[in-house]
Amino acid sequence: MPTWRDNVRKVVPYVPGEQPNKKDVIKLNTNENPYPPAPGVKKALDSFDYETLRKYPDPKCSKLVSAIASYYGLSEDQVFVGVGSDDVLAMSFLTFFNSGKPVLFPDITYSFYDVWADMLRIPYRQVPLNNRFHVDPDDYIGDCGGIVIPNPNAPTGIAEKMDTYEKILDGHPGVVVIIDEAYVDFGAESVLPLIDKYDNLLVVQTFSKSRAMAGSRIGFAMGSPELIKYLSDVKFSFNSYTMDRVTIDLGTAALSDRKYFEEGVNKIIRTREWTKKKLKDLGFEFGDSVSNFIFARHEGVSASDLFEWLKSEGIYVRYFDKPRISDYLRITIGTDEEMEIFIEKVKTYLTMHGIG
Ligand SMILES: *Cc1c(COP(=O)(O)O)cnc(C)c1O
Repeated sequence: MPTWRDNVRKVVPYVPGEQPNKKDVIKLNTNENPYPPAPGVKKALDSFDYETLRKYPDPKCSKLVSAIASYYGLSEDQVFVGVGSDDVLAMSFLTFFNSGKPVLFPDITYSFYDVWADMLRIPYRQVPLNNRFHVDPDDYIGDCGGIVIPNPNAPTGIAEKMDTYEKILDGHPGVVVIIDEAYVDFGAESVLPLIDKYDNLLVVQTFSKSRAMAGSRIGFAMGSPELIKYLSDVKFSFNSYTMDRVTIDLGTAALSDRKYFEEGVNKIIRTREWTKKKLKDLGFEFGDSVSNFIFARHEGVSASDLFEWLKSEGIYVRYFDKPRISDYLRITIGTDEEMEIFIEKVKTYLTMHGIG
């Protein structure tokens, strides 16, 4: 006898990094920013008029869209806003990947892409990164249903030059190419200037990392007015009021302080470079991360053992038990003090195991 269970859309959900409830942990596992959002965000929160919650929010998020457009020198019809870039990316998969042909993304990449593809019944093919974890545009030649690549890539932290993406775009005028720039502010070259040349390029960014607002859920896409229109049509067919009134105000406030933003990003970059040096001295190997995390391995150490031990010591990093990367740890860049403690702990572990 068939049951209702036969008609359920069965999915294997994405597993986000742990959010431990304990205090006093050093949390280097979800690429959050260790510093608070811009002071203007607090002001906007303090002066928010709770009585306005009676009314629905602006479905177009016009205030925030306009702030993003002017920040990046775009027109408002080139900007789409969503509830975190996860929302923007999921909407984009739904909107643009309908050819029935496989969508391409790297084999080592953000582990939400295959989840969305599976959920939306979009066929996909994972294109292996080269042995140095770089994207080779030649591997993307041929017919496909679309392409999505993070730059810098996650969890490797490695970025490609703009010409890599131009080559991919030149080869694929017939499908939408999404570049997920969640970490671009930490030192990579944005492909944003290419949106005027390629009307099939969608650039996705987020306030969660460089703007320290993961808790507010703000993501956005930039692209040709035509792409943005199709994306908006799907969003408005799904749920018009996705972003709440408070968040629209806070996001707008965050963008008004360019100096705070740049100083915050530079601080994390400096701490990242310090951490790289220390890890290298301890015998770790890693690619050249231009993000707010380092993806590292050590010849003499089991990544999963070190992961568990660090956790027992109150330091959370991320471990992926997956092909090609199961001997790596992804370490988010925290404050200077947090990274000093992290390095000291790692040293202790290596000494305990007679390494180094
Ligand atoms: C963090 C992240 C996102 C999503 O972030 P949101 O918090 O949903 O904006 C998207 N892509 C990559 C590669 C990420 O690491």
